[in-house]
Amino acid sequence: MLPVSKLKHFILVIGIVLGVLLSWQVPAVSIKNVENGSNRDTVQAIVTYGSSFLFDAIEDLSKEAILAYRDSLICMGSPYDQLVPQVDLFLSIEQMEEEQVVELIDSLFTLDRVPYALVNEINRYIANRPPLPKYGPFAYVDTCELPADCFYPAWDTQLPNPYSTKITDSDTAFELLLQGTERLGQFCMPVDDVLTSPFGWRNGRMHNGIDIDLQVWDTVVAAFPGMVRVAKYYGGYGRLVVIRHYNGLETTYAHLHRIKVEPGDVVEAGQLIGLGGSSGKSTGSHLHFEARFKGVALNPLSFIDFKERALLNDTLVIRKTKTGFVAYPKGTLFHTVKRGDCLYDIAQRYGTTTYALAKINGIRRNSKLWVGQRLRVI
Ligand SMILES: [Zn+2]
Repeated sequence: MLPVSKLKHFILVIGIVLGVLLSWQVPAVSIKNVENGSNRDTVQAIVTYGSSFLFDAIEDLSKEAILAYRDSLICMGSPYDQLVPQVDLFLSIEQMEEEQVVELIDSLFTLDRVPYALVNEINRYIANRPPLPKYGPFAYVDTCELPADCFYPAWDTQLPNPYSTKITDSDTAFELLLQGTERLGQFCMPVDDVLTSPFGWRNGRMHNGIDIDLQVWDTVVAAFPGMVRVAKYYGGYGRLVVIRHYNGLETTYAHLHRIKVEPGDVVEAGQLIGLGGSSGKSTGSHLHFEARFKGVALNPLSFIDFKERALLNDTLVIRKTKTGFVAYPKGTLFHTVKRGDCLYDIAQRYGTTTYALAKINGIRRNSKLWVGQRLRVI
């Protein structure tokens, strides 16, 4: 169920969208600068089809200036006041997560008459959004008793995932440095073998990690330096080790045949933590490997280059979504789907293939794209 605040927000957005529906067709206007009383035109609202924008020179406009502009539209009366819902809608996107903005743009395109200027304005805002706040590990890494404990409320040695979903409430988007400093160390593949099952939905159930093939007794090592939090037999996981790392991630190693560490052990990347096996709910020996941030499972392949046995990038970008986090290596290039785009054209434009695009975005090659959809290109 939606929390009340989100519901209110949703109703507000719907209300505004309806407002937009009624007010799309307003002629271009220019307004006087209300604040300093000069006659110089400071803001132009151009609502036409094509590449027009809601405001001119938005880069120079503070929020106060936009609010003043909005108020002036009300004073000017019809038809200019019909632009007010669009300005309000624009102002409201500041509070939205990226996924919500994409949904909003999507909904604008379903209107009979699409407010292109507003869509363009929103797109421009998103493109110029200030860089993500950085929660680098440098500030806390050497002062904490436990690895990354500023991210976590508790140190539980019994439950693999003891965290309530509330601990991600304040998260929006940030960058996590995974390796490269003395304390963070260098990533190491937990097992040097082939991937047998990817992350994601599998037979109607969510597979929260990846499976890596191994032989019973093969060594399993820590992926990053950190401290062992859980080392025990736990249900379907079988013999399990969970390590919390200085970089903020927690990694899980399941179905082990033997456990070689204890809770509280400090481990380096590449250090032996157990021997591979098939304990718990497992068919055939393999390592089930998870990477979580605040308890939320991330796709390990969003940062591990399995072919190179290395990280895709030292820095992982994490953005909160309605369902969890989306994670991708820094420097990833995205394409925002425009009207008329098809996967083949996009692949051509970026020098890649429809097969590769479908794979990294987790979609089918014949999937229907929607306007505003963000596709990972690299
Ligand atoms: Zn698995």
